[in-house]
Amino acid sequence: MTKTVFSNVRILDCGGGDPFAGEVLIEGNRIRQIAGDAAQVSRDGARVIDGAGATLMPGLIEAHMHVSFLDSADLESLGAVPAEEHTLMAMKNARTFLDQGFTAGCSAAAAKPRLDVVIRNSINAGDIPGPRMLAATPELTVSGGLGDVRLMHMDRQTFAVVCDGADEFRRAAREFCREGVDTLKINPSGDEFVPMARAHHTVMNEDEVAAVAEVARSREKRVAGHCRSAESVKMCLRHGVEIIYHATLVDEEARDLLEAQKDRVFVAPTLGITYATLNEASPWGITEEVATGLGMRRELDIAIENMKDLKKRGLRILPGGDYGFAWNPIGTNARDIEHFVKLLDFTPMDAIVAATRLGGEIMMMGDELGQVKEGFLADLLLVDGNPLADVSILQHADKLLAIMKDGNFHKEPPGEMRAGRVAAE
Ligand SMILES: [Zn+2]
Repeated sequence: MTKTVFSNVRILDCGGGDPFAGEVLIEGNRIRQIAGDAAQVSRDGARVIDGAGATLMPGLIEAHMHVSFLDSADLESLGAVPAEEHTLMAMKNARTFLDQGFTAGCSAAAAKPRLDVVIRNSINAGDIPGPRMLAATPELTVSGGLGDVRLMHMDRQTFAVVCDGADEFRRAAREFCREGVDTLKINPSGDEFVPMARAHHTVMNEDEVAAVAEVARSREKRVAGHCRSAESVKMCLRHGVEIIYHATLVDEEARDLLEAQKDRVFVAPTLGITYATLNEASPWGITEEVATGLGMRRELDIAIENMKDLKKRGLRILPGGDYGFAWNPIGTNARDIEHFVKLLDFTPMDAIVAATRLGGEIMMMGDELGQVKEGFLADLLLVDGNPLADVSILQHADKLLAIMKDGNFHKEPPGEMRAGRVAAE
């Protein structure tokens, strides 16, 4: 079995405690032994990496991943890409996630029916590099809802699957379970850039949400809801939906309901896309004035207050900002950690724990992923610097000296750290 020792590292274990100097032994794909206080782990037969004081921490985990979004400036163009090209592009994105230190991701919708499933399976088979992945359906939406870009006068496809009525949702949910998804993604609310289904509109009805939830329950799958309106959050909670995306416009009743289910649900507000649309999308014609006119300033302000309140109430709030659009591209996902610190007043530690330990929990692998802990899976980053002093360093791939997933280096540490020898005691 392959053995690797990271010696002379500062261990940020993301279990909640302060970082400490020490060393870590990886055996196969697991973290076998951790030693602090100048103690040593077993070096027998191990390749020893001299970390030179760098930070060893868990790989980052994206809570709202779109591996098949293509950094386009609109939703329609996603539908124009043929499946073959689209698969290759998603494959490239999967690698980008890993290159940027994301060793796992919970998908928040595929852009074509089987894309997530195929990419996840290829990664798991070791055929292509990429993060651990929970595969999702495309967005299951209603006529006129977010993702329905069809026109009356001509045929046009997009990334969503349009269903109306409980029966159509049930059939779609069952078909996607057949195809092997982990997560059923539904769009109960609209979004500010959808003219006829705004963020505060709840466009799916009770029976439709119930139908998808029933399919998920019966097959041990999960439902994730695009829920911006307060009512969409309440409706999802009534039906046991576990992953509440956005939750930006929740009212007090919705916050109370979330608090009552805080050990069961995850909230990922996706601040990245809203922030970037407001501040950085003018090259694509969305000036701050336009974005504010769409209601995004108002929504971001309300979301910030709501997330601060939910954090106080003990909700699990995770970074993940809908990266995959032109002004919020894939690969910049770690920026959401900085948004949590700057916009939501998270401590750097809390923001990083949300992107690692809580990430392990949303991956349904909380007992083996997201921490530097004995027995846990060896998904690790060796970081040049102290992310607690400046979380933004996690956005720079050149600061990631080494990236390990499942005990294998995706990115080897630089030459001077590699003794290249196998130690014998
Ligand atoms: Zn999304």
